[in-house]
Amino acid sequence: MLIYGLLSLLGLVVIIHLIWFMIFKRTFTPVLMYHRVTGDTKKDDVRFIIHKGKRLDLDSMKVSPTNFDAQMAYLKKKGYQTLDLKKDFHKPKTVYITFDDGYEDNYLFAFNSLKKYGLKATFFITSELAIKGLFMPIDSNDKRVENRLLTTNQIREMSEANMQIGSHTLTHPWLTHEGVNIEDEIIKSKRELEEIIGKEVTTFAYPGGLYNDEVLEIVSKHYDVAVTTSLGESFRKKDETPYTIERETISSTDSLLMFKLKVWGVMKFIRKHPLIGLLKKVIKWLLRK
Ligand SMILES: [Zn+2]
Repeated sequence: MLIYGLLSLLGLVVIIHLIWFMIFKRTFTPVLMYHRVTGDTKKDDVRFIIHKGKRLDLDSMKVSPTNFDAQMAYLKKKGYQTLDLKKDFHKPKTVYITFDDGYEDNYLFAFNSLKKYGLKATFFITSELAIKGLFMPIDSNDKRVENRLLTTNQIREMSEANMQIGSHTLTHPWLTHEGVNIEDEIIKSKRELEEIIGKEVTTFAYPGGLYNDEVLEIVSKHYDVAVTTSLGESFRKKDETPYTIERETISSTDSLLMFKLKVWGVMKFIRKHPLIGLLKKVIKWLLRK
């Protein structure tokens, strides 16, 4: 008797979650976040940075060209449309593909796969570093050719091939930190990129996903949309506005199944589930003891 009781309870929990997921899916449009597309990993001296208080493995931000191609092939095969990011970005059967930092490998590898499958993506460029041919701050101790950023000619060519170009500031500072000229970083980078591509730049990505009220105010005056990384663990709708679009990180260790789970919204659903949040708090509390 007890077994039947437990089984029916389990069935009920599953059905409730399926319905809940279907409701969640109606408002979920995946915005994927890539950084680098390269097979070049584990050769650096600089392997970790501290980001938002956590150790971040830089190699996790590198997706191999083979994996990237398989991911794009999947999107093409399943008939997903890819669009420019705009204010009304919630659309059915749509995936937004975005790249941060503007590494040259985006042009060498990702751009080829995108063209091959007729897909489009948004590339967030750190304009001053690109114009001056400099390295990203995280690569400053490790100036290898593989770490080169896109040139202005490559950016122009990608824009002419229908890729969307967005701003990722002038020099990639954390915009919430003291002493950063946030107006210049946000506004001047837009002007510089518009000069390069001869089109209006309407999208922005916060370096490290970091913003505050002041940053939000300036960004919302000069851009149509802005993307961040992940917005924490709750389902609160008010968190997500056209200026705080949450993205799904695609990392080097993601299998094709994991990629699909991210595209379908399953990973975000789990991330936002109240019980998962509670579980994490309990574990943290236990570890502190
Ligand atoms: Zn960045």
